Amino acid sequence: MERTLSIIKPDAVAKGVIGKILDRFESNGLRIAATKKLQLSRADAEAFYAVHAERPFFNDLVDFMISGPVVVSVLEGENAMQKNRDLMGATNPKEAEAGTIRADFAENIDANAVHGSDSVENAANEIAFFFAEREIS
Ligand code: GDP
Ligand code: MG
Repeated sequence: MERTLSIIKPDAVAKGVIGKILDRFESNGLRIAATKKLQLSRADAEAFYAVHAERPFFNDLVDFMISGPVVVSVLEGENAMQKNRDLMGATNPKEAEAGTIRADFAENIDANAVHGSDSVENAANEIAFFFAEREIS
């Protein structure tokens, strides 16, 4: 069984679609092994997205991620990382396939509803960033 990290971003939390997005996971073979709602600090967001620190959109991304609470979850299942990426759709919701989370719930590339780990190795690091092992079952 593989694990991946999902974040429901501030735009989707503000829209009131936490339940609808979690349902996409559970309806598509991803078990919610852990979940919690929290407000990221600026330091949290900068550390989480450190890989993008040199990108021109980094400051906008950090500002957006701390603009309201997020819901972080550990998803578990066969090929969980890729399955979650497929359910999410393309980074830019205008390019996301119909029926994906971003096509259905995201407005634009800044406010794009969800984050998902992009490799199994990154998933392990991202899960450890947010959860103690005893919080995951
Ligand atoms: P993801 O893995 O599909 O979330 O995409 P990336 O890892 O490439 O980028 C991380 C996040 O940064 C994306 O989800 C967007 O919120 C944001 N982002 C990526 N590319 C751009 C861009 O060109 N412009 C802006 N404003 N934000 C971007
Ligand atoms: Mg990414």
